[in-house]
Amino acid sequence: MSHSLGQVIMSGADQCLVRDAAGELHLCRLRGRRAARPVCGDRVRWTPGNPDGLVDGIEPRRNLIERGDFRGRPRGLAANIDRMVIVVAPEPAPDNLLVDRYLVLGEALDIAMLLWCNKRDLATWSSAQALFALQERCRRLGVPVLEGSTATGDGLAPLREQTRQQTIILVGQSGVGKSSITQALIPSLSLRIGEISATSGQGRHTTSETTLFHREDGGALIDSPGVRTLRLDHLGSDAVDQAYPEIAEAAGNCRFRDCQHDQEPECGVKRGLASGMIEAERFDNWRRLRHETGSTDPAERGR
Ligand code: GDP
Repeated sequence: MSHSLGQVIMSGADQCLVRDAAGELHLCRLRGRRAARPVCGDRVRWTPGNPDGLVDGIEPRRNLIERGDFRGRPRGLAANIDRMVIVVAPEPAPDNLLVDRYLVLGEALDIAMLLWCNKRDLATWSSAQALFALQERCRRLGVPVLEGSTATGDGLAPLREQTRQQTIILVGQSGVGKSSITQALIPSLSLRIGEISATSGQGRHTTSETTLFHREDGGALIDSPGVRTLRLDHLGSDAVDQAYPEIAEAAGNCRFRDCQHDQEPECGVKRGLASGMIEAERFDNWRRLRHETGSTDPAERGR
């Protein structure tokens, strides 16, 4: 029997939900116990079988987002992403270390990013200052910044336009408005969640899984609870350095090539900190993520 091609819109331990070219959903098992597990966004070859189909293989991935599990082992989360949209808001206040984790991940996988500052309707003087600093940081790294509100609809048109026909993944703390953005970008969504629940038989529980939703413009959106916290142990410390170009540049001026930017004399990074070229918070985050990714002792990681 010939294969059909489909896209995985949700994936569990031994089965996944595949959408075919006509938009029909099929609950598929994996062929063989040792078969690689497809993740959300994967393109797969499948044949009809029990329950609806069997996944025979995964097409080559353009990229794969993984997160470290509690032991630091990588676990696939989503594949074939065009853009990672980092969502922040005045409330809850931005967790800058978490944002830096996303920036490291995006750089390491070479995925385009975008910072979306949500809930502009709730902005206050002090929250605006904190967000402004974060926006400046992102702009310096070449990450475009947009802002608006899903409550008022303000700013959503540029967000739609910048992500047109792309497969995007929303990442950010709980409560910043990711589900609200999903609803805003895909107004017919409640219908689809119902459809997915009926097919997968998982009912309301479905919304706590990583799920791909198709957008009217041909793009797609992945909402993943798995990225609300993010461990990067599986990435090397070089990946961390890449996301901190200002530190890498200043390190070029250190007297010692293996300078740890700690107590060494004539340290370019310490000079960068003193002159304000490197922000103290960025340096602290860099040290912390370096430690997390560079340590071989699992007990030391992720602290
Ligand atoms: P998630 O946890 O990131 O998916 O966040 P939700 O989409 O569930 O939103 C968390 C809360 O923030 C909900 O009560 C939303 O109604 C509210 N919310 C989302 N976007 C906005 C916004 O732009 N303005 C305001 N004022 N509230 C918002």
